[in-house]
Amino acid sequence: MRVHVVGAGPVGLLLTALLQSMEGFSVRLYEKRREYTRTRMVQLAPYLVADSVESYRADAIDGDSVDAIFDPHELDQGLAFRQSIPSDLTALLKNWSLGFCPLNSIERSVSDLIDERGPNGVERTAAVVTAEDAMAMLEPGDVLIDSTGSSSLLRDHLVPGSGDADEGANTVKVRLEYALVITFLYGQRYDCNEQCKYYKNIESAQYKFIPMVHRTYYDGSVSHVTGIVNISAEEYEAMPSRFDGEWLRSNVLGVAESMDRFIDKIKEETHGEIIGELEIVRIPLDLYRARNATSRQWLKAGPRDHPFAGSPVFLAGDSAIGSPYFQSISLGFECAMFLAGLMTQSDLPLGEMLDRYELYIYKQWLRVYMRSKMIKHNKDLFESLDDPLALLEKLHIY
Ligand SMILES: Cc1cc2nc3c(=O)[nH]c(=O)nc-3n(C[C@H](O)[C@H](O)[C@H](O)COP(=O)(O)OP(=O)(O)OC[C@H]3O[C@@H](n4cnc5c(N)ncnc54)[C@H](O)[C@@H]3O)c2cc1C
Repeated sequence: MRVHVVGAGPVGLLLTALLQSMEGFSVRLYEKRREYTRTRMVQLAPYLVADSVESYRADAIDGDSVDAIFDPHELDQGLAFRQSIPSDLTALLKNWSLGFCPLNSIERSVSDLIDERGPNGVERTAAVVTAEDAMAMLEPGDVLIDSTGSSSLLRDHLVPGSGDADEGANTVKVRLEYALVITFLYGQRYDCNEQCKYYKNIESAQYKFIPMVHRTYYDGSVSHVTGIVNISAEEYEAMPSRFDGEWLRSNVLGVAESMDRFIDKIKEETHGEIIGELEIVRIPLDLYRARNATSRQWLKAGPRDHPFAGSPVFLAGDSAIGSPYFQSISLGFECAMFLAGLMTQSDLPLGEMLDRYELYIYKQWLRVYMRSKMIKHNKDLFESLDDPLALLEKLHIY
């Protein structure tokens, strides 16, 4: 089976490496970037390398949702697939899920692994692929996987319509908030928990810096700290997309003062220093999903001569679902593993394969939707902890 994977970010690369190790697949991998340069530190969820249902659902926030959403046999199948992953890839996954690592080191290590494996079975093309290119490259029976990230190449082409893509035709989006993602390095060990978040923000009534759960990581000499500060839509619009602490001090004094108070309290406790500058990105924290994560609508109702009516298309990673609060790569990897497992079942009728992937994506969406809403709700409550009336307003107990 010939599989076209468009987009060699972390998810496209993982899918390629999985398919490469399975019999009967030849993969064409397309990527527009010449180099992997994204240095932001990311963390993968421990459930990615779980070896039992207990460890898979050992998450303080969504352990119960996992039981409620997935059937036991689905969880068992997922674990069985994980155990079948070749040891070279498993070793990488285990390593990444230990702590933080730069995004480009994940990308480079899977990319190198793909290139070094022999016999290879992967043909790489450095090119910007357009939707028209993607349609033209398909021969009947080929599979097309769109792993081009949040601005997905094909998401809005998966619904048969007038022919042109209708922006938003196939996307459900929930905007949770606007935030500054602030990262810094600190020259001593620094671990954070809920009490720490509270006491270090106690004098900051408006802007609270909240290191995300497990968003601090000590690598033996330096602590990596990443957290978010909630900002308004107007503040978001007035900022550049990326800036440093100096720009923050000159332009958004309230956030700068809140950061200074937070950092001073860390220093009081552990007597270290900040290394380098604050790195700041402003992002809208959106939850979204593709209503159709496959070409099943073309298969059911599209004109027979359209390329998507004869060749299955799948969205994977941020193309299919996006979520804030630092969980998307894990979710994308999870879906990539499921898709690779599905593709090995050569006796599965095409319609059923598409339906099963859709159902799985929908279940993962439910899980991440509930998880993200819960995190947002907890953050909202946290920001009003010192104001009981405002807190009660947000509780909606019954
Ligand atoms: C500040 C920040 C911090 C984050 N931290 C975390 C974290 O700690 N944990 C976590 O799980 N997630 C985190 N994320 C989210 C994570 O980075 C994304 O979920 C992840 O990169 C998505 O992977 P992907 O492979 O689906 O898409 P992408 O990483 O977006 O990769 C898509 C690839 O497709 C290529 N491409 C796009 N269009 C085309 C085209 N037309 N032709 C050819 N190639 C194309 C792109 O060049 C790119 O290489 C963070 C995000 C941000 C912004």
